[in-house]
Amino acid sequence: MNKIGFIGLGIMGSGMAANLRKAGYELLAWNRTKAKADNLIAQGAVFARNFAEMAREADVIFTMLAADAQVLEVLLGDQGIIQAAKPGQIVIDSSTVSPDTSRLLYAKFAEKGVSFLDAPVTGSAPHAKEGTLGFMVGGDRETFDRCTELFRTMGKNWVYLGPAGSGSTAKLASNTMVAISLLALAEGLAIVEKGGVNPEDFIKVISNGGANSRVAETKAPKILNRDMSAEFSAALMNKDLGLAVELAGRLGVATPALGLAKQVLQMTVGRGFGGADVSAVYEMYREWAGGTENGT
Ligand code: NAP
Repeated sequence: MNKIGFIGLGIMGSGMAANLRKAGYELLAWNRTKAKADNLIAQGAVFARNFAEMAREADVIFTMLAADAQVLEVLLGDQGIIQAAKPGQIVIDSSTVSPDTSRLLYAKFAEKGVSFLDAPVTGSAPHAKEGTLGFMVGGDRETFDRCTELFRTMGKNWVYLGPAGSGSTAKLASNTMVAISLLALAEGLAIVEKGGVNPEDFIKVISNGGANSRVAETKAPKILNRDMSAEFSAALMNKDLGLAVELAGRLGVATPALGLAKQVLQMTVGRGFGGADVSAVYEMYREWAGGTENGT
């Protein structure tokens, strides 16, 4: 497994692919916007002319794309990877997609003798860059075992969760928790800001208490600095929560807090913050709170 294909060099994929290259893997990369591959090419990666070339040459192919539609197009489309895929190859999708999409991909590739894993990730842009992502993996155990070295190169933990779709199910559950946690942070901050308490001091004081969370640790500094540069865009979180709402509905699981989080994300995107970091939800709370207690 020396030659890796990597499709999707966005915020996450660029860091992941760079770590594979750094570890010495031969890398055949592709991105819709070719300029985003420049750094990788400078590090010795080759830009694939098309998916057929990648499918002919790579032992393992990763995708890290925005959403289900792009993953399906790139992997199963008329010009997609599946058209030239060969028995024995492995395809790994790390995008956040519906478990149904993961199961469909598993079944379609199985018809060609190709193994498929859904392996979405925890962590954000800094973790992709540092190689400290967490992989939650669905598919065949044996395929997972063969890929642990690749996960090690890009992550700090990798957990096999069960058959195809298990990774995607876990990822949607995980982002449900992240989004609710973000709303909790936003509401606490909105209260202290309006109540005249210094929000930096508030974050300091909660850091040892039950109100602290990984989301508070990573997103409070962005919120307080009004740094909206996207590590994870509000648009993608809105997409993920839509998938989570759909999944919970299908499973018959009541998720009232998820429903609320989805609506707040929808409003955030509708207000024009889709391309901003997900922490831009706080801009909505700023508007709703309408300034500080003394009217400023
Ligand atoms: P991103 O920076 O927006 O990158 C999206 C990628 O998808 C880019 O390579 C983009 O190509 C490609 N793409 C979009 N539309 C396409 C199309 N029609 N055809 C071909 N390629 C297309 O997003 P990201 O933050 O890296 O996220 C990638 C995936 O990981 C998403 O599923 C996201 O939910 C998930 N995820 C993100 C994070 C995070 O913190 N950012 C964490 C965990 C999981 P271009 O460069 O040409 O636009």
